Amino acid sequence: MKKFDLSGTSQGRLSILRFADEKVNGRPAYVCICSCSPEREIIKSSTTLRGGTKSCGCLHSENARKQLKAVEHLITTHNMSKTPTYIAWRNMKARCDDPNHQAFKNYKDRGITYCREWASFENFFADMGECPEGLTLNRIDVNSGYTKENCEWATNHKQGRDRRKPKSGTSSKYKGVSYSKAEDKYKSYLTLKGERLHLGYSSDEELLACRYDEKVIELTGCIGGTNIQLGLLDPANLIVY
Ligand SMILES: [Zn+2]
Repeated sequence: MKKFDLSGTSQGRLSILRFADEKVNGRPAYVCICSCSPEREIIKSSTTLRGGTKSCGCLHSENARKQLKAVEHLITTHNMSKTPTYIAWRNMKARCDDPNHQAFKNYKDRGITYCREWASFENFFADMGECPEGLTLNRIDVNSGYTKENCEWATNHKQGRDRRKPKSGTSSKYKGVSYSKAEDKYKSYLTLKGERLHLGYSSDEELLACRYDEKVIELTGCIGGTNIQLGLLDPANLIVY
């Protein structure tokens, strides 16, 4: 007699029907159906089921889509709703003030903040003027805050150079990107379940960091471990296909 029999129970979207004839990874397995496609029988191992699996995998994909939508929304808002100058100011404030902003912890830990006058957009605008096309707000000394003296409009490329130095042992400041001496270019790859997935070469390490983040979000459905989460990349840089 079998001690544990989950047959007839349900778990999230899964209805557990009966023991399967075959084992999965040496463990007893069950025939289940998922409410997303009731006509299709699927096999789940008892280990997986006890681990709390609630669907055939469709929940995971839905969450992935939700995350992508959230990023997409950010991009749309940043690009269309206001002028680049306003966006730069708002992003600066968010990085320093908003605990939900991906860069907030990084900035807070390093004591990066903005001068009191710049709490108002009018004052910021008076000091910095209009953001020239294609440029972004750059702190000249990356370890100092946002002030009139320490800020300039600069290209992303320059920002890249001025950012914090990479950790020792890596040759790029971005996660998932490293420098290839042989190619004289940066390369990016992602290691997933022991498999190395190559994401290509480029002389633009920021571009590769975007590619890396996009791939992570696509494959895992969340921003955990991305450059965005680490505050190294602005979500506005991301292209969502
Ligand atoms: Zn399903």
